[in-house]
Amino acid sequence: MISVLRLGHRIPRDRRITTHVALVARAFGADCVLVSTKDSVLERSVRNVVERFGGDFHISTGVNWRRTLKEWQGTIVHLTMYGERLKDALPKMGKKDLMIVIGGEKVPPEVYDVADFNVSVGNQPHSEVAALAVFLDRLLEGQPLEREFEGRMRIVPSEKGKNVVERPAGLPSRKDCLKALREAGCDRAVIEHCKRVSRLARKIASLCGADERLCELGGLLHDIGRGRTHDVDHGHVGGQILREKDFPGVLAGIVEKHVGAGIVKDEAKEIGLPARSYVPKTLEERVVAHADNLAEEGKIDVLIDQMKERGLLTAAKRMRRLHDELSELCGMDLDDL
Ligand code: SAM
Repeated sequence: MISVLRLGHRIPRDRRITTHVALVARAFGADCVLVSTKDSVLERSVRNVVERFGGDFHISTGVNWRRTLKEWQGTIVHLTMYGERLKDALPKMGKKDLMIVIGGEKVPPEVYDVADFNVSVGNQPHSEVAALAVFLDRLLEGQPLEREFEGRMRIVPSEKGKNVVERPAGLPSRKDCLKALREAGCDRAVIEHCKRVSRLARKIASLCGADERLCELGGLLHDIGRGRTHDVDHGHVGGQILREKDFPGVLAGIVEKHVGAGIVKDEAKEIGLPARSYVPKTLEERVVAHADNLAEEGKIDVLIDQMKERGLLTAAKRMRRLHDELSELCGMDLDDL
């Protein structure tokens, strides 16, 4: 997970440059950008690009940066012209779980203290956009630039002129989703549960600024794998069913990552799933996963107790964090929905 934390965003003055920060973060291999100032216009314009050009990139604004840095479990890298040279710092840091902090006009001194690395991209003043691009490119050795984003719009590299292909597959209708659930063998109880999760996911989406339609349809399809199995791998199986049916990848992603508050790579290996992370990352994936948690039981404390009784302590912590993060984005405790 590579996150970019953008400090000091001023509305409207910095909108353009922070949009560029987000687009560079996405194109050069980060998973999300967090902005300390609340700015729904900025969120919308970045989501709009992600929606058209694809990928799992996520944006949140109005985040509490002190708490974000305090709670971050990985490495914190602060990009600043005063820091140690990039070529000296890079060999000392891993590539996983990085929080990259970039500033605006002036960065609070405590950021320098809390950072594991203060890194300069040349010791001259330039720009957070350039610093971020060069840092990510050197860190990930250019690999993200080769990546296919599988979006609705695909640019075909051309020596001259523009060649843009628009993929036909839009989102399915509710009717298509219900038909797919029945065809996959889901029984009545599963389908009714899917409808409840869909309603709740849409409601949460409307509060936290997630894509409502995507959450509604993701909620409706989330348990499609139960047509074949009720085991913990039903999320993974559901994703496969949707891919076989040529449903958009963004829905398969939601379905694959909806179990609990996600399954980390090591747990996935232990239970016989292909060894990769099934932790929900995009806002829509997180909304559907948690709508599923809350739809039947309703109260997070009851769910956490149940998980603890089953010895699932780390998963319980992950679920608590998901609940708290979404509640904060929604501006209310989701227990009270
Ligand atoms: N005094 C600032 C500093 O610490 O780099 C320059 C402010 S600059 C307008 C805004 C942001 O650009 C900084 O907070 C930093 O993240 C990034 N930045 C600018 N020049 C940089 C450089 N040479 N190396 C790394 N980051 C840089």
